Amino acid sequence: MKIAIIGSGITGLTAALSLAKSGHEVHIFEKSEKIGGIAETFDYHNYTLEKYYHHYFKSDENIIKLLKELNLDNDIRWLQSKMGYFTNNKMWDFGTPISLLKFKPLNFIDKIRFGISVLKIFSINNWSTLEHITAKDWIIKNAGENVYKKVWKPLLVTKFGDEHEDISMVWLWGKMKLRGKSKDNGKEVLGYIGGSNKTLLLKIMDSLQELGVKIHLNKEVKALTKNDTFEIVTKTANYNFDKVISTVSLPASLNIGQSILPKAYIKEKSRINYTATVCLILILKKTFSKYYWLNIGDESIPFGGLIEHTNLISPEEYGGDHILYISNYVFKNSNYYKMTKQELVKAYTANLKKINPDYSEDWIIDSFIFKDDFAQPVIKNNYSKIKPDFKTPVDGFFVANMCNIYPEDRGVNYAIRDGVKVAEEVLK
Ligand SMILES: Cc1cc2nc3c(=O)[nH]c(=O)nc-3n(C[C@H](O)[C@H](O)[C@H](O)COP(=O)(O)OP(=O)(O)OC[C@H]3O[C@@H](n4cnc5c(N)ncnc54)[C@H](O)[C@@H]3O)c2cc1C
Repeated sequence: MKIAIIGSGITGLTAALSLAKSGHEVHIFEKSEKIGGIAETFDYHNYTLEKYYHHYFKSDENIIKLLKELNLDNDIRWLQSKMGYFTNNKMWDFGTPISLLKFKPLNFIDKIRFGISVLKIFSINNWSTLEHITAKDWIIKNAGENVYKKVWKPLLVTKFGDEHEDISMVWLWGKMKLRGKSKDNGKEVLGYIGGSNKTLLLKIMDSLQELGVKIHLNKEVKALTKNDTFEIVTKTANYNFDKVISTVSLPASLNIGQSILPKAYIKEKSRINYTATVCLILILKKTFSKYYWLNIGDESIPFGGLIEHTNLISPEEYGGDHILYISNYVFKNSNYYKMTKQELVKAYTANLKKINPDYSEDWIIDSFIFKDDFAQPVIKNNYSKIKPDFKTPVDGFFVANMCNIYPEDRGVNYAIRDGVKVAEEVLK
């Protein structure tokens, strides 16, 4: 078979690997000049960074398996990470039983209720019992209003903005379950691929080339039509295929397939919304805090998390630079999404000072900004009823993207799993 894959993110790349290994002719169409999608990297001086911070969990079995297959299993390092929470104008240790005891924003009773509710989440295996309840309602019921307001609400707001009250408990369950399993001797560890995701992407690229996969970069797919075969339409040329997998976001896939997909299908799947992301990277002269991951629980601060990469991997590996990712999930109409890098640096300065009063713009050696329109699907109650299947109503046209991942939260591990699964579906 001659098979087209639209998009060269991790889903598209792993689908291509699977199909090419089965002996099919595979072409990847990618609108950008590089492969990798959201997991892409960039070179700076003599090191490489992810455009968006990336780490992996011990429970990410599909990544671990893929790294083994590509002889990269020794390249992933498992490291202890320090997590913090900024609230009440102070940074608090967070994420361990001892830090919970010292966390003053919650009173004694709230701490007990918080601890018990977290254990309850870990003990739930049948996620479908949570489908009908929002995270807000479940937390208030199981941990109380104060725990919701002090801990969870700010986190949900930073990820989902105005839609935070509608987020399903299944989403939070998926996220917590994953994280809870990433432990070595009872302590949380996170995985980081030496040399960044670039190490993985280069190895995948080599394997694809050995298998004869054709990668068309700078080739945005504009439309898809179908007669005897499918026709992929790009600005400069059209190409014919027996089967097509779209691994671009669901809205973009619906747009590409609009002339062949039934209207009712497009209407139903268009109900699934995404948040966008704007990520500012500051290369600093000094360390910003002692935390790798600092959640921001202060709603007056416009960003949701500070990820100081060089508190996971030593600054020595980055020529002494300190690397701070400022994570902000927003909707596309947000002012922060529209800002330029300079505007964002300015807008964030006073907020960074609230967290660390010593911080000054003089610390900045360099900065980078990355934006993506489709960063996180908004998972509401009873999502399983509208979750897309890999198969669309058009025979031979498949979709595989973050919206297919459920009850787990999106991530590279599940992109790999779904890349393999959608390939199996195509071959059935
Ligand atoms: C801020 C942030 C941090 C994250 N951190 C982590 C983490 O720590 N660990 C983890 O496991 N996961 C993390 N993730 C999630 C993870 O990166 C994604 O789940 C995964 O990379 C998605 O891969 P994908 O192939 O499904 O989609 P994408 O990476 O979005 O790939 C889609 C590709 O399609 C291309 N494309 C779009 N339209 C067209 C078109 N018309 N024609 C041709 N090509 C097109 C795009 O350019 C892109 O390359 C993070 C995500 C974000 C946003």
